[in-house]
Amino acid sequence: MRAMVFEGVGRPLRLIERPRPAPGPGQVLLRVEACGVCRTDLHLLDGEVTVREVPRVLGHQIVGVDVATGRRIGVPWLGWTCGACGYCTSGRENLCEQARFTGCDIDGGLAEYTVADTRFCFPIPDGYSPLQAAPLLCAGLIGFRSLRMCGDATRLGLYGFGAAAHIIAQVARWQGRRVFAFVRPGDDAARLFALQLGAEWAGDSSVAPPEPLDAAIVFAPDGALVPTALRALAAGGTLVLGGIHMSDIPSFPYELLWHERSIRSVANLTRRDGEEFLGLAPRVPVRTQVHPYPLEAAGQALDDLRAGRFTGAAVITP
Ligand SMILES: [Zn+2]
Ligand SMILES: [Zn+2]
Repeated sequence: MRAMVFEGVGRPLRLIERPRPAPGPGQVLLRVEACGVCRTDLHLLDGEVTVREVPRVLGHQIVGVDVATGRRIGVPWLGWTCGACGYCTSGRENLCEQARFTGCDIDGGLAEYTVADTRFCFPIPDGYSPLQAAPLLCAGLIGFRSLRMCGDATRLGLYGFGAAAHIIAQVARWQGRRVFAFVRPGDDAARLFALQLGAEWAGDSSVAPPEPLDAAIVFAPDGALVPTALRALAAGGTLVLGGIHMSDIPSFPYELLWHERSIRSVANLTRRDGEEFLGLAPRVPVRTQVHPYPLEAAGQALDDLRAGRFTGAAVITP
């Protein structure tokens, strides 16, 4: 089969031929139909998140057909957990110290076939094509976990209007929240896109919103946005950091945090997040804007993501 492999930090993904993987006990063999790319893939390429063993097939938003049963299923970032530690047994398997992640510790979906642990796969909701469904599996799932950390906040800020925000804006509107979108200065395409998806205000991330926010989620990997977003929060507001990596956060006066504002990060997902979000997505209904790329153009898709050349999500179609 053909696969795009990561061979080391700073090196481009390379197209290779390798044997089709064989499923072990408890695993399914999937013919990959679509695999979303994610900002985390850029962090892997750049060495900001470590890939322990190379070569590695990246890609952790996989939609594929189970070769044995013909069922369409989705494979997310959380690929395996120990099931026995204090985190795993208290509903926090996302924090398991032995967890293995798809497309990082386990070969992922930038290939014609992949194998996955059945217990960590999800059925794809009816009404979604493979292309449309792929971004739900990380941008959607981890975005949804971030949104839940915002509690019942009405006025919600989204910093960085990429794949995750374009899904979560739709869910937040459906929940009756008011959405304020912040984009890279001068990114008019993203600003207009946010307004189309129901944001009542969209502007540059350097600009204060028209009124204070009850919560904000930072999806962009820019630590300088932390004090900026804190400044936009009302007293008691929550700031949620949705990414796996961020540049250093500049120091800021305690005054920005005081009045019971809080900051928290979000790590990974639990299977419960997946079941809840994939149950909810068709009810909203969440519609994803996708840009398809063939397998051999996965590197181009990642370059385009880095440069902000599209709105919505890039999806590879092996
Ligand atoms: Zn565990
Ligand atoms: Zn991801």
